[in-house]
Parts: sequence; C-alpha cells; structure tokens
Amino acid sequence: MENSKPELSIVIPVYNEAEHLAESLVTIAAAAASVCSRYELIVIDDGSRDQTWEVLEKASGYIKGLNALRLSRNFGKESALCAGIEHTRGKAVIIMDGDLQHPPGLIPEMVQLWRSGFEVVECVKTSRGNESWNKKAGASLFYGMLNHLSGFDLKNASDFKLLDEKVVEAWRQMPERTMFFRGMSAWLGFRRTQLPFEVQIRSGGASRWSIQSLIRLALDAIVAFSTKPLRIVTYIGLLFFVCSVALGIHTLVNKLQGSAVTGFTTVILLQLIIGSVIMISIGIVGEYIGAIYHEVKGRPRYLVSDRSQHAGSVQTVEERGQDAVYSAVSPH
Ligand code: UDP
Ligand code: MG
Repeated sequence: MENSKPELSIVIPVYNEAEHLAESLVTIAAAAASVCSRYELIVIDDGSRDQTWEVLEKASGYIKGLNALRLSRNFGKESALCAGIEHTRGKAVIIMDGDLQHPPGLIPEMVQLWRSGFEVVECVKTSRGNESWNKKAGASLFYGMLNHLSGFDLKNASDFKLLDEKVVEAWRQMPERTMFFRGMSAWLGFRRTQLPFEVQIRSGGASRWSIQSLIRLALDAIVAFSTKPLRIVTYIGLLFFVCSVALGIHTLVNKLQGSAVTGFTTVILLQLIIGSVIMISIGIVGEYIGAIYHEVKGRPRYLVSDRSQHAGSVQTVEERGQDAVYSAVSPH
C-alpha cells in the first residue's frame, strides 16, 4: 500500500530550519490529509548546518508519507527544488517553502482547482509580507528588468505552485543546469490559473537568502531568460560609433581652422565614458560565456547524500497527538 502511487506530492526545500520544521511539516501534512488520502511530502535538506536532518529522520517516524532527501552540501533553493521535483511520484505536485510563509491552508483549494481541470495553479503574492524596504526595492528593480528583457511578468509570482504530472514531465525535459524555477514554469505554459495569497510571517529564524545570493539569482535568471543585454551592447556600440564620427568631423574642422588646442575636457570625458561602456559590455558578454560554460560542463544539478522514509508501521501524528510529536522530534 505504502508504495502505491500518491495522488499528491508536496515538495519542500529546507535549509537550517530545524527549530520550527516539525511544526511546518505537521501543519502541511494535515492540510494535505484534509483534501486527499494518498499524499507524500518530499523534503529536501539543502545541506543544512543545524539539526534539520536529525529532525527529518526523527519526523519520518511520525509523519505519514514523509520522504526526506539530504543533499551533499548547500546547492541553493533552486537546485533543492529540482531535486525534490525529480523525486515526486504524485499526479499533482505542490511546491512550497518550509517556513509556513506559504500558507498550507491554500492546499485544499489548489487541489480542487487542479481536480477541476487546471494544470498549473500559481499562487501570487498580494503583498510581500514584512520584507525590508531594500529587499522590496531590489525585487521590483529585478522583476522590472526581467519583464522588459524576457517578456515574462513575474512581479508577484512565487514558488508556491501546483503542477500537474504532465507539466512536471515537461519540466523534467528542460536540461539546463542553471535553474530559475519561477521563470521556467512560466515558460512551460499549460492551462493555468492564479490564486492570490498573503505572504505570512516566517515561523522562525530569518530569511535564508543573503544579498549576494539574491543578486546571483537575479543575474542567473536574466542571463537564462534573455539575450537582449547582448544586443543592447551592440546598440550602444553603434550609438558610440555615430557619436565618434560626428566628433571626428568636428575635430578635423577645428584642426583645419587652426583652433584645435582647447577641448581637453572632452577628451577626458570621452575616455571615461567609452572605457566604462566597454568594460560593462565585456562584463555582459562574460556573463553569457560563463552561463554557457556552466551548461557545457553538464555537471549534475545536485547530489543526494542520505535518504529517510516513513516506515509505514510507526505511530503517526494522528495517533500520538501533535504536541507529543513536536517534543519527540524537535532539536533540544
Ligand atoms: N532554502 C533552501 N536553500 C537555500 C536557501 C533557502 O532550501 O540555500 C529554503 C528555505 O529553507 C525555505 C525556502 O527555501 O524553505 C525559502 O527560503 P527563505 O524563507 O529563506 O526565503 P524568503 O522567504 O525570504 O524568500
Ligand atoms: Mg521564507
């Protein structure tokens, strides 16, 4: 029975979430149980440095359908998601965060929409929760640029989604190494609908993203979804060529008229402008070459080091009661 194909798979990437993981998993499992009886929770420990893995191993004794994978190091959320999605067996797959910022209360509604025929249910943010102003500003700059460059409007998109197994199958055929899940799932198409939600307060700890990791994600996403920056480099080059022809003629005329010495400022300004434009342009070209290099190497997107699975015969949360499970599972 335990091995029969589940109807619903829920993928949850986690990184250093030990303190509140038990609560998250129990809440998510209860929401899943309320709408379907055969579900699995695929939890990916993205190389956590705290006791996340110990909690997961213990929890798999109590939480029905829990299936935990441990990556060999911190590969980043996108790769962890990918590991999770590749291990799902369900007819529908829900992707959500492990910190309860994606409200599990929406799971029944998502499943109902899927049962009514939608193949992708995207939960869109009505507010960004209690994020700091610089994160909000950074996000709107990034999504604005991405929308201009790639044509995908992902401003309020989140990773909280339900995908039909058909969509998951299509997604598995995307071979790229550098992932941007939100963008890739928008690119896939299929019959989709949206469900608004408010980002909840984190159930504990702070965001696992550093500014550097967000900038890296933004650059990867832009390079993966648009080659327009390369074209912009060409346009800037053309613009500068036209300007330099005009300036060249102007200089020659000055020379012929015998009034050439002044204009030192112009020379310095031009040096600075052209120099920096060339540097930026080389940088952009470099980003793409770097991306090609990563793809060509063809390394695996993640490595699994351990697995832990619900053993079937052990007591479940329903039998033990939530509080007993929390105290048995949580780190001391
Ligand atoms: N996460 C992960 N690997 C990382 C960073 C984050 O698996 O390197 C997980 C994290 O545990 C959480 C989800 O991704 O379940 C979203 O992360 P977080 O809450 O830190 O991001 P935010 O909500 O601030 O966007
Ligand atoms: Mg979060």
